[in-house]
Amino acid sequence: MEIILQPGDILYQEGSPAECGYIIETGDVMLYSDHTGGRIDCEQRGAGSILGELSILTGQPRKVTVEAMTPCRIYKICPQKIMQKYQSLDPILRACIETSINFTAHFNARAHPNDQQAPMAPKTLKNAEMLISQIKIEEDMLTGLENDEFSMHYQPIVAIESGNIVGAEALMRWRHPQLGAVSPDKFIPIAENMGSINQLTDFALEKACEALHQAYSLHPDAASLFMSVNVSGADLGRADFPDHLAHLMDLHDLAPQCLKLEVTETALVPTGDTSKTVLKRLRDFGCGISIDDFGTGYSNLGYLKSLPLTALKIDRAFAGDAYANAVSRGIVKMLVGLGRELGVDVIAEGLETVDDVNTLRSLGCCYAQGYYFHKPLILDDYIQQLSRQFKGKSQVA
Ligand code: C2E
Ligand code: CA
Ligand code: CA
Repeated sequence: MEIILQPGDILYQEGSPAECGYIIETGDVMLYSDHTGGRIDCEQRGAGSILGELSILTGQPRKVTVEAMTPCRIYKICPQKIMQKYQSLDPILRACIETSINFTAHFNARAHPNDQQAPMAPKTLKNAEMLISQIKIEEDMLTGLENDEFSMHYQPIVAIESGNIVGAEALMRWRHPQLGAVSPDKFIPIAENMGSINQLTDFALEKACEALHQAYSLHPDAASLFMSVNVSGADLGRADFPDHLAHLMDLHDLAPQCLKLEVTETALVPTGDTSKTVLKRLRDFGCGISIDDFGTGYSNLGYLKSLPLTALKIDRAFAGDAYANAVSRGIVKMLVGLGRELGVDVIAEGLETVDDVNTLRSLGCCYAQGYYFHKPLILDDYIQQLSRQFKGKSQVA
């Protein structure tokens, strides 16, 4: 929420309870303290400064009064949000912050032994502009989730030999009321950074389960269809994620085998103990686990030995380039061989032309996804494609 202040307006008063944190977007404020001898100006702060967050963390009343010196636009951060983010921090990072708060308090007490009101050390955010824009987008995302602005599209995954649909990848779409369609390449990294990705993943899983349920009612052969859902590293850090998933599958009367979770190498590799346990539990439960964008994230393949994987998805940068580029072709050939050795499925992403498809087929790749076969479809269109297939009208490359 934004606050506009005119010169002389007070943002908060010394001694008042700490209700919110603030970031100055534009303008300048003065922090001052009232003493028996009169007002003492402590410090001027401008755009990019964060105000009031320490009082929230320490639970202490405001140490200073903040008054606008020029017209100001100030962004308000509610304490729940600060505390929620603070509580979800890595414990070591949290300990560092606590140590630094204590150190600052100690320093102030020593520097101003007779002054209970000594100001805390100033804090300036170097990347305040980016942080504010991310906070705003996150707020819009959370509102958008409540307002039905999000939906899922389903991009069919096909068996290259027959062209038959074997499953689909669920891809999120966001229609912002003012900005229009926002690409997931833009909003997913922000959700990951700001800590709200879990809510988006839950939405994707819920919709994907509903879509699968609908597909299964079409034809008995539909029982072999799977649905892939993208999950982030933060989802694997949720100890209750496997239970949540099991509950969801149960609710929609689905077998775990029909769900594949797509995780990128960069999310998989720095896995902590919780993530490893979560991955193992998911695999034991029966879900598939695919490495997304394989080949782009990590050069050390040692992790393949220890993780319970079921598929590799070859990134579009290689698969979609293999026809025209001998180096990409060599890499795809190697990755297909690697998949075979590991006993996992290999899915090529981003095939757009018949030449791409023929190249991947000649390299021994069995499954593909790309505009040549199908673009991501709304649910009705996906179901219609499946109905056509079950009536024997499948397309063959
Ligand atoms: P991704 O997981 O690698 O998804 C494949 C992307 O490639 C999709 O972009 C898809 O529309 C696009 N694509 C498919 N076939 C072709 C093709 O033949 N040519 C080209 N040029 N592109 C093709 P999209 O839907 O924009 O998604 C972008 C990324 O956003 C995804 O990449 C994924 O990383 C992320 N994302 C999308 N939905 C979700 C979601 O529900 N959860 C999470 N965590 N991430 C998501
Ligand atoms: Ca994916
Ligand atoms: Ca991918």
